[in-house]
Amino acid sequence: MITARPPENLEGNDLFSKGGPRMSSRFLRSTAALALSVGAAVAVTAAPAGAAVTRFTPGAPGAGDPYFPDMGNGGYDVAHYDVDLAYDPASKGIRAVTTIDATATQNLSRFDLDFLGPLRISSLTVDGRAATWDRTGAQELRITPRSGLRAHHRFRVRVAYAGVPQTVDDPALGVSGWVPTADGGVMLNQPTGAATVYPVNDTPADKATYTFTLTAPKDLTTLANGEPLGAATRHGLTTTRWAMRSPMASELAMIAIGKYDVVRTKARGRANITATDRAMAITPENAKAFNTQTADVVAFLESNFGRYPFASTGGIVVKAGVGYALETQGRPVYDLGRRPGSIPAGDLLAHELAHQWFGDAVSPAKWADIWLNEGFATYAEWLYAEKYQGVPVRQSFDKVYATPADDDLWNAKTADPGRDGIFDATVYDRGAMTLQALREAIGDRAFFRLLREWPARYGGGNASTADFIRFAERISGRDLDRLFTTWLYTPSKPKL
Ligand SMILES: [Zn+2]
Repeated sequence: MITARPPENLEGNDLFSKGGPRMSSRFLRSTAALALSVGAAVAVTAAPAGAAVTRFTPGAPGAGDPYFPDMGNGGYDVAHYDVDLAYDPASKGIRAVTTIDATATQNLSRFDLDFLGPLRISSLTVDGRAATWDRTGAQELRITPRSGLRAHHRFRVRVAYAGVPQTVDDPALGVSGWVPTADGGVMLNQPTGAATVYPVNDTPADKATYTFTLTAPKDLTTLANGEPLGAATRHGLTTTRWAMRSPMASELAMIAIGKYDVVRTKARGRANITATDRAMAITPENAKAFNTQTADVVAFLESNFGRYPFASTGGIVVKAGVGYALETQGRPVYDLGRRPGSIPAGDLLAHELAHQWFGDAVSPAKWADIWLNEGFATYAEWLYAEKYQGVPVRQSFDKVYATPADDDLWNAKTADPGRDGIFDATVYDRGAMTLQALREAIGDRAFFRLLREWPARYGGGNASTADFIRFAERISGRDLDRLFTTWLYTPSKPKL
């Protein structure tokens, strides 16, 4: 968990520029204690007098996720990212400065960020002072500040870089990261990909707020998560700013640059911003319908899951060739490139928008827990089909349950599908079936209470499968070990 600070507070923040880093209260306390114990008059403003007794050690190069050991890092918590990025259509490259505000969680001699691909770093500072760095391992940007960073110390990293971002093409998990399009590009980060565009602590366990400052020639549209903070055009270049004020996992950060038609409305007091890629040749009527249907589906989901968790909503239809839609926070991206002219169907909207509660507001503790995203999003499709297509939820369950016992659907563990299995049908379909099995065990009243209280309890942070099992047992007052062992951890077809 991290502490979210409103981006406004970071503007012109000079905590780190005058007289060096602000000392933490713990530093002051320990230094004062040291002064007392040695009976000497040690001024608390002196250079770290306790350095002789303080050990600084490197932050871990990974966040400890067994599926993705290189992802994320240890030793600090990020509070905020500011990504200031200019896109150049001639080179299809970017020039960017990413500023990261973080807090050390140990005495750090050095720490890593994740940064991947051919982008070249031109300058890197920690608390305004040049730091030494090297790039090592699969995606490590290893940074050594001038002096160690004490635990609880808030520090600021600023990285300037440029180049053509890489696209990740994982044999098992598909395309992610920066994906070039005909007239720009889109950043789609699940599960790995953020590090192709900005230096990042690339783990869902370290959520942070974001601001984006995006510059491109004025005939292009630039979009990101969250709310627009305004736009200005100078010398033929337009700069737009966006803010995501709720904690966001890096896998859900989104940037889209290209020729888009944008529809802006309000839905229940929230901005509803949808955009359609001109390369998709979507009619103005359909672009408007996409916006309206987004608002309608959010309203339907609110009736099931409680208040929508973010300050704005919307969606972006792109022609990117990735073959999937992604629940990028507050504003999902739908690649419909194989169907020119079309907009997302209702069940697809229900899936990606349900993720705003399940996956985005509540993010998985580890990638093994991704059924907590996909099982709920698939279940939302079933709820949608029941409400709008006359297909009872139990019928959706039965249809999947009819899958033969020797099918791969049953041969994996829903809550531990393996690194290459995180997007498999077991996670989605068997995840949704697990929820239906739970519903039939605990009854509608407890089940629908759980659907609302789970995001209310864990929204803004992370939760594990173990958290969910405990939560379901508490809400229902039932021992559910056997049910969850059968549905989540037994790689065979459950008996009904
Ligand atoms: Zn999904």
